[in-house]
Amino acid sequence: MHELSLAREIVAIVDEIMLQHPEKSLKCVRVKVGELNPLIPDQLQSCYEALIADSKLVGSRLEIIRIPVRAQCRKCARDFRLEQFSFCCPHCESTGLDINSGDELMVSEVEF
Ligand SMILES: [Zn+2]
Repeated sequence: MHELSLAREIVAIVDEIMLQHPEKSLKCVRVKVGELNPLIPDQLQSCYEALIADSKLVGSRLEIIRIPVRAQCRKCARDFRLEQFSFCCPHCESTGLDINSGDELMVSEVEF
């Protein structure tokens, strides 16, 4: 399952951060996930909760922030947000696009 491996990745990153702050307890983890990442937020949430049940991260909340997909047109060089994944430049209708963001996953913030 895609969500489970993502949750594992997040827990591994947060575990590393917690090692540097052993005296603190974790409240909230904010992750940024690009809209191109085929993710079901509810599933990621429950995988995360299952993974942290017996760890020192227990009780923390996962906050998922979706990042819009941005692309640049190779023809007219404009930069824009891709809506509904039409993969076509809204200015000149060219389909020669470079995707600049949208499939990333990163832990952006932790709150103690
Ligand atoms: Zn264009």
